[in-house]
Amino acid sequence: MKNRRGLKNVREVSRLVRPMSEIIEREAAPSDFIRDIVGADLAAGKTGRAHTRFPPEPNGYLHIGHAKSICLNFGIAREFGGICNLRMDDTNPAKEEVEYVDSIIEDVRWLIGGWAVDRLGLKPQGKTAEARMVNGKRDFEIEPVVGAMAGMEPFYASDYFEPLHDYAVELIKLGKAYVCDLSPEETEAYRGAPDQPGRNSPYRERAVEENLDLFARMRAGEFPNGARTLRAKIDMAAPNIWLRDPVLYRIRHTEHHHTGSKWCIYPMYDFAHCLSDYIEGVTHSICTLEFDVHRPLYDWLLENLKLPRTLPRQFEFARLSLTYTVMSKRKLMQLVNEKLVSGWDDPRMPTISGLRRRGVTASALRSFAYHLGITKYDGLTDVAVLEHVIREEFNKEAPRRLAVLRPLKVVLTNYPEDKVEELDAVNNPGAPEMGTRKVLFGREIYIERDDFMEAAPPKYFRLRPGGEVRLKYGYIIRCDEVIKDATGEIVELRCTADIESKSGGPTSDRKVKGTIHWVSARHAIDAEVRLYDRLFTVPEPDADGDFKAHINPNSLEIVHAKCEPALRDARPEERYQFERLAYFALEKESTAEKLIFNRTITLKDAWAKELKKGN
Ligand code: ATP
Ligand code: MG
Repeated sequence: MKNRRGLKNVREVSRLVRPMSEIIEREAAPSDFIRDIVGADLAAGKTGRAHTRFPPEPNGYLHIGHAKSICLNFGIAREFGGICNLRMDDTNPAKEEVEYVDSIIEDVRWLIGGWAVDRLGLKPQGKTAEARMVNGKRDFEIEPVVGAMAGMEPFYASDYFEPLHDYAVELIKLGKAYVCDLSPEETEAYRGAPDQPGRNSPYRERAVEENLDLFARMRAGEFPNGARTLRAKIDMAAPNIWLRDPVLYRIRHTEHHHTGSKWCIYPMYDFAHCLSDYIEGVTHSICTLEFDVHRPLYDWLLENLKLPRTLPRQFEFARLSLTYTVMSKRKLMQLVNEKLVSGWDDPRMPTISGLRRRGVTASALRSFAYHLGITKYDGLTDVAVLEHVIREEFNKEAPRRLAVLRPLKVVLTNYPEDKVEELDAVNNPGAPEMGTRKVLFGREIYIERDDFMEAAPPKYFRLRPGGEVRLKYGYIIRCDEVIKDATGEIVELRCTADIESKSGGPTSDRKVKGTIHWVSARHAIDAEVRLYDRLFTVPEPDADGDFKAHINPNSLEIVHAKCEPALRDARPEERYQFERLAYFALEKESTAEKLIFNRTITLKDAWAKELKKGN
């Protein structure tokens, strides 16, 4: 599948992928049309600093699409020595919840902490937009802040309700806004269609004084929801439908999570957004392509208010869409509410918290976001690209450990009962500096059930009756006897070890085709292992509008594994490669009494193999 950059497959992408540290050290940063604009604006002195913002609406958890936007906005601040504000776009009173605000702060901190942290614009507690006179005009500005996160807060658009209201009054005084009594349905009908001009509202020519009076009474709570709106007076025949006297304020007698019952009129997104950018001193307001059609309104509002400071400008880029994934908050919310997943941070979710819980690192996500590139055309990115970036990082950094997911007991009949040996195991073959460790070996071991077959096909190079296999870091063993229970299930293998075949021994370079992993039965520790897979079975789950019908029934399998004792000291910030199996991370519910690991990602792309088989 082609991804948005026109790259055909993962192999092509792989040549481009390098760890984050390398990129930052060896080359400045990615380059794209937005970074070019920022660079040119700075060089031309159009702006003294690059100031961006990330403005999530707190009506759900952040997903990997937001991660792309976060890395772009904070990345620009980081690369150009600028500032990026985290701003809650919380002007809609009905939808926001405190839980979402908290999760957004946590996710942003996690994703960019230690990377762009000192470039993060956060508001010192208690500080709000201050009114001041600039060039004889009343203006609102928040001093830009560059600082560490501790003890500071994100910005809230709802903190600007007062200045936004003042700007609305100003617009009325300039004859550029009016109070309209049309109902929501009538307003809609008057708007016309893209190929058909709208009709002027009968209230369009109200006098300034009457508008001021009605707007004040709207604010005072005199009218019920929907009775009146404040609208911009632009052009009902404009080809761009967003310029047809858009609603700026509506009446909502609803409590707001941040401002309580102080307000019963609330600004619309388009009005609040450009002015919030202005108040915060944002220079480059970067959003996704669907806001392209809103840009003329963004500019109209700022220009018509005749604001005294430099105006922010809006730029659009293509949003991230991933195969085998649904991305919109609304759909993710359905998965949560209908209990199709365990919550917003279910490790199968494409949310930042889900990816984190699954074991994906912040650096891998940032690296993914950097390699995506920023373009102007929408497309679909193969989720294999994300998986590749994760594997690439883990392969370099994850220590290897031995674990057996579906244990089958093996007794080495010629090995002394009480003998215990320490064998040398390599921590990471690609990184000799990570050293070696001792693994304990004894007469009874566990191997993977999959690594034994009774009636094996000729090319099966693992263990079979009468066959030989090498135990990783240890001996060659031969299977002599298969023990079954009453139901015919294999419960144990009896084998002999070639005692001379250990590394360094006289027959150590004797060739056998297969090598398998194992753990010592006497020393193994138990762990629950959660094997996560893609949540959907088809590349575009919502193509037919019924994404829930394509949920992968095998997206989670829980097994009870036997692990080498070193995994008792597993740390949450570390990733582990269980040799020959996959990469794992400690699950957040894991305790000393009950060890739990999540499979973050398999060693190879099993889905690509499946696809090939199907062809
Ligand atoms: P969704 O459509 O998933 O519900 P949203 O656009 O409603 O998301 P917001 O909270 O409004 O979510 O988004 C905050 C910022 O993140 C916006 O600037 C938006 O353009 C950006 N963003 C949202 N989704 C994506 C995506 N898939 N890729 C890149 N940026 C995104
Ligand atoms: Mg939105």
